Amino acid sequence: MQKTVSEEIEIYRFDSGQAGPALTITGAVHGNEPCGPKALRRLIDLLESGEIEITQGSLTLIPVCNPRAYEQNVRFVEYNLNRSMYPRAEDEIEHYEDRLRSVLCPVLEKTDYLLDLHSCTAPSDPFLIVDGDLTSPDYRRFVDAAGTGYVLWGWSEAVGQSETPEDPSHAQGMGEYARLHGAHALTIECGNHDHPRGADFAFQAALGVIEAVGVAVISETVKPDDVFEKEKKVIRFKSVTFKQQEGRFFQDWVNLHPVQKGTPVAEEEGGQVFTMPEDGFLIMPKENVKIGEEWFYVGVEEEFLAS
Ligand SMILES: [Zn+2]
Repeated sequence: MQKTVSEEIEIYRFDSGQAGPALTITGAVHGNEPCGPKALRRLIDLLESGEIEITQGSLTLIPVCNPRAYEQNVRFVEYNLNRSMYPRAEDEIEHYEDRLRSVLCPVLEKTDYLLDLHSCTAPSDPFLIVDGDLTSPDYRRFVDAAGTGYVLWGWSEAVGQSETPEDPSHAQGMGEYARLHGAHALTIECGNHDHPRGADFAFQAALGVIEAVGVAVISETVKPDDVFEKEKKVIRFKSVTFKQQEGRFFQDWVNLHPVQKGTPVAEEEGGQVFTMPEDGFLIMPKENVKIGEEWFYVGVEEEFLAS
């Protein structure tokens, strides 16, 4: 195992010394999402004790991608690390997170597969966010191995089409940057931040993709009990609403709340009411985000299309 530390980010690399795929698993891109660090530390212990052995290719684990946000238990310190993801030159660095991008981007450029471990604010079961070549059998195997009941797709398109904040690369997060460099990438949201099984979801997803990608064989003694729903539901992101001024939700929405067209969702202090544009699902509603951040998404049940 090789451990490197840069900008306080600890990177653990387990290399088989044999040819094969490079898999990267990341946690705490958002500092208030503890499932990733917990699951990856558990995994590092198993790798260091030899209970899991990397047999081909390599596995790179980054338990905490945003160290200061993690220390403060906040989503980010100055700028969402999972947006506008590209490396900055020294004279382009504006925010604390820009320094982290320069450490993370080279790892994402070199990986063949990325699993990014997250959790969400509203009460939620775990779900996957996928994108890229959804018809690729290789990618579908990777996605299926992460093992959750809900699969959401079309995030970058929905955000890219919206009147996003000033930066045109806003819709480029960890996964999008890895895909730009040829990787298969997926995000798992392991339920809400304090979901009692969040770290179990993250751990099972990590073991699942390790086995599917083929960097290690996972023995039965190490495998956790299956914690995921079996039934899969595929939902496409259709739109995103950014919070432009203070406001409130009409209900305590949970994630993937089915809502009928015309139902009032949120209201700004200025009086503007946002209603559901079509029958569908509210995705990742966050009533108390900062102005300028994503307030809620709307999605509909729809099978994958070729991208
Ligand atoms: Zn997150």
